[in-house]
This record gives sequence, structure tokens and C-alpha cells, in this order.
Amino acid sequence: MFGLIGHSSSFRDARLKARDLGLEELAEGELDLWCSAPPQLVETFELTSATGQTIQGTYIDSCFVPEMLSRFKTATRKVQNAMELAQKKGINITALGGFTSIIFENFNLAKFQQIRATLLQWERFTTGNTHTAWVICRQVEQNAPRLGIDLTKAKVAVVGATGDIGSAVCRWLSRRTGVAELLLVARQQQRLEDLRQELGGGRVLSLEEALPEADVVVWVASLPQTLSIEAESLRKPCLMIDGGYPKNLDTRVASEHVTVLKGGIVEFVRDIGWQMMEMAEMSNPRRQLFACFAEAMLLEFEGWHTNFSWGRNNITLEAMEQIGAASIRHGFSALGLEPVEAPAIALVA
Ligand code: NDP
Repeated sequence: MFGLIGHSSSFRDARLKARDLGLEELAEGELDLWCSAPPQLVETFELTSATGQTIQGTYIDSCFVPEMLSRFKTATRKVQNAMELAQKKGINITALGGFTSIIFENFNLAKFQQIRATLLQWERFTTGNTHTAWVICRQVEQNAPRLGIDLTKAKVAVVGATGDIGSAVCRWLSRRTGVAELLLVARQQQRLEDLRQELGGGRVLSLEEALPEADVVVWVASLPQTLSIEAESLRKPCLMIDGGYPKNLDTRVASEHVTVLKGGIVEFVRDIGWQMMEMAEMSNPRRQLFACFAEAMLLEFEGWHTNFSWGRNNITLEAMEQIGAASIRHGFSALGLEPVEAPAIALVA
């Protein structure tokens, strides 16, 4: 059995979902009630791999909502309680989805292993970031050429370059894909400089400097809702992979020359008998899901019951290759642009 720990994308959505599930008290409740609400085991479902293997999974809603991010104690308690529930249910491997892995890392929850009577076993949990990083790189490699962008000549900006996912994406794009130049964007300059040295190249730029130069932009930072981007200042064409959370770039910059693709999303080969993706604004919620959730499924399919993605900046290219091969084997594909239609061939009688 694998597990997925997630949350709604807003307080409003969380209340709507609670109503759907018949949890009337939560549906009517104010944020303070939600702050003290325990995690909910929402559903158990099955999925069958392209190989024919069937596994069972469980979705646990942590009852966290992004409006709680500023409440340190609440946010940490939500993540810890959901992890405790997953372990008590005997789940082998559980992915920390959405903000839960970021809260775990940013608030250093690895220091707090004892939750009431439960000693959390880290090998039962994964952030899912290795698969997410691999999927994002594949989205770049598969879709840039479709827009006429030759990656060996392209400049690729990575916004959030020093993060767990961002640094892995940078390593892959420079060493495996062979992009012409990486533009490294984040706020803390020393970490950027350390990354640049590790990569043996790349240029550290501000967001404003990087955007007009970039043929491809990979967003792997949670950016403020107020960020505004001038579509006219971007390269034509420009491919944007919106890997951050929430995914809201398309409404801001998509235009005739700027193509925005939801990053870190995979599509499964068969329908999955679950309801949970309905709220995640996937165009095909029966088959599409976050790559971090898919990592827990892959670890269960393969019997790799280990914290495959854990800590910060530990993702190796070998681990990306390993999870990527499993992803293809079991029937996941990275979300891509619609295939460009081949020009009609005129038939001469
Ligand atoms: P990290 O916290 O490890 O990294 C965040 C990165 O973003 C850091 O480089 C940070 O550097 C940078 N950053 C943060 N704020 C800004 C800003 N305002 N401007 C520029 N850079 C910024 O996060 P992860 O790598 O774990 O996750 C990255 C994103 O991916 C998150 O938004 C997460 O929700 C999303 N995610 C998506 C998944 C999916 O779609 N399948 C799965 C998992 C995660 P600095 O602090 O120096 O600015």
C-alpha cells in the first residue's frame, strides 16, 4: 500500500471538498476550526501498471490550506499529524505532496521524529522531488523542439535554481541534455554561486535580467501572486514550464509566442479509480497527477520501500534515471503540448 498526503489549493476549495465528502462541520467551519482539524483519510483506490501489476493506495488530506502558511505551529502540526496517520495505517511509502514537503524541509521537521506515541520512520516517506525533477527535464526536452527551440543553442532560465528540484533540473540540463547556457535565478546569492561552481558554468542573473534572454524558463519556486511578467519582453518563441505551486502562470503570460506548460505533471496510461484530482484543476483528473505523487506509486510498484527523495539538494542524476525508467515502464508520461498536426499532404490523382 502506498500513500499520498495532500491538501486543497485554498481554504475555499477545502470547504467545497468537505461538503462533497459529507463533512458538514468542516464545510461550515472557519479557518480556526480547520487549524485544529485532524487529517482525513479520504479514499482508498487501486491502479494497474502498464505491466499489469495492481497496487492499492490511500489519499490523506492533511487539512492544511495555504492560508495557514504563516502559522508556523499549525503548519508543522498538520504535516506531522498526517505523517503519523499514514504510518499508523501501516502504509509502506507515502509522498508528501504540495506544500507539505516544503513545510517539512523549511521547518526542519526531521528534528522531531517522535509524534505522541509514534516514532516516525523516515524510510516510509518521500518528497517525490526526484521524479518531479526528471519529469520537468523531460518536458523541456520533448517540448522545446516542438516550438522550434534547439536546446543545444538555447538559454534556459531556472527560477528557483538552488532549490531541491531546481538544482537537480540544472544538473540534468547541463550534463545530460547539454543546453547551451543556464541562467540561474533565486534570491540568496551565495547559494547561487555555490551552484554555479558545482555545475562548472551558468550565469547568475536576476529574474528581470534572465527573462528577456531565455528561450525556455523553468519555474520551480513558489512565487508571489503579485509577480507580473511583461509578455512582450520575452523571447519569441518562449517555452515556460510552470513547475511551481500554485500553477498560475498561463493566465499571466501565455500569448501567441509564449507557451506555458503545467510542469511536474504526468499522465497515467489508464484511468485511476479516485476522486482526489478533481479539485487539482487537471484537464483529465482520472489520469493526470503530480509527479511527486506518482513517485510513491512507482516506489510501491517496484517494491523500493525507501525514502527515495529526502533532504535538500541530494538528488543525483543516477536516481533521476532510475525513477525515470520506472516511470516509463509503468505507464506514466510527462504532460506535453498537443502534437503539432502534420501538414496535409495534397494527393495528386
Ligand atoms: P525549495 O524550497 O527547495 O526551493 C525553492 C527555490 O525557489 C529556491 O531556489 C529558492 O531560493 C527559490 N525562490 C523562492 N522564492 C523565490 C523568489 N521570490 N524569487 C526567486 N527565487 C525564489 O523547493 P522545492 O524545490 O522542493 O519545490 C519547488 C517548487 O516546486 C515549489 O513551488 C513546490 O510547490 C513545487 N513542487 C511541484 C511539484 C509538482 O508539480 N509535481 C511537486 C513538488 C514540488 P531563494 O530562497 O534563495 O530565493
